[in-house]
Amino acid sequence: MSEVHDVIIIGGGPAGMAATAYAIRKRMDAVLISPGLGGRTNRKLELPWVEDYNVLVGESMVERFRSQIEYLDFLRVRTTVDRIEPREEGYCVVLKDGKELLTRTILLATGAVGEMLNVPGEAHFEMKGLCYSTTTYAPLFIDRTAMVIGDGIQALRAVAELQRIASHVTLVARTHGDLDSPLAARLRSERNVSILEGYEVVEIQGDQFVNCVKMRRDDEMREVRADAVFIEKGLIPNSKLVATLVDLDEKGFIRVDERNRTSRPGIYAAGDVTTAMSDQVLISMGEGAKAILSIYDDLLGIR
Ligand SMILES: Cc1cc2nc3c(=O)[nH]c(=O)nc-3n(C[C@H](O)[C@H](O)[C@H](O)COP(=O)(O)OP(=O)(O)OC[C@H]3O[C@@H](n4cnc5c(N)ncnc54)[C@H](O)[C@@H]3O)c2cc1C
Repeated sequence: MSEVHDVIIIGGGPAGMAATAYAIRKRMDAVLISPGLGGRTNRKLELPWVEDYNVLVGESMVERFRSQIEYLDFLRVRTTVDRIEPREEGYCVVLKDGKELLTRTILLATGAVGEMLNVPGEAHFEMKGLCYSTTTYAPLFIDRTAMVIGDGIQALRAVAELQRIASHVTLVARTHGDLDSPLAARLRSERNVSILEGYEVVEIQGDQFVNCVKMRRDDEMREVRADAVFIEKGLIPNSKLVATLVDLDEKGFIRVDERNRTSRPGIYAAGDVTTAMSDQVLISMGEGAKAILSIYDDLLGIR
């Protein structure tokens, strides 16, 4: 185990794929470690009234990068990283099977996942009318009804987006959360928005697709129908690998500067796992490309 790589990229989503493609162009000695390619872009919401659509503006870009990287076996390791240990040479990346790789720098592009409600029916209807990304799918709701579940600013933003398109939007907020905000006040005045405050979702229901949400407030049980359900409780970053090595914000996102450097020399991060505004394919790809150029400069000693 004497070879020391220039960079190990962890995560094969849009950020990691763009970073890898740029590393190849720069002839860097790079390794991409990820169980698969595409990350969150591999999942697509199915809706009964839509046969096919192309809302994923970055999809064709992802495919182009995928075709560049897919067959480059020398730089791809199809597994997950178990831990990262600082070493004299830089870092040791320990894989799930115990294999160790040495590297001067690391780029974390491990993404984030939508926080779940953990109620019956949620897993069953995921992507069958239920999902965690309103920004992507709101344009498909002309003359349709939608439900947003959550009580923070992210949920209110989702309602605002859908309200301009859908015939009706219902917000189900378990607590008062951000319902005092100016945005909430504006939404309350919209004729096609209902806000159900204090309700806890107990079950997601449907047939082939989601069509109803069962909820409770004190002793009252209620069933509300909708053509689709968006759970907007926030994202949980996959930052555990570096949690004791670099600065994270209060929600666990990795703090990065404008050149994708973390608080620790040699560790960089890009995409949804960072504090930089991301949550879209094209932004994540741009961040991944920027991060690798930043690493390239730092390895050359250009500051
Ligand atoms: C349902 C849904 C639909 C969406 N649709 C769109 C859309 O239409 N348009 C759009 O622009 N955006 C869309 N988004 C958002 C977009 O998918 C994300 O912003 C983007 O994928 C983030 O890219 P990323 O590379 O940062 O992370 P991710 O795509 O989350 O990729 C992270 C990668 O890291 C890997 N990984 C994690 N932990 C480890 C580990 N320990 N070791 C090795 N690998 C690891 C994962 O396997 C994965 O490959 C959607 C999101 C969701 C949830």
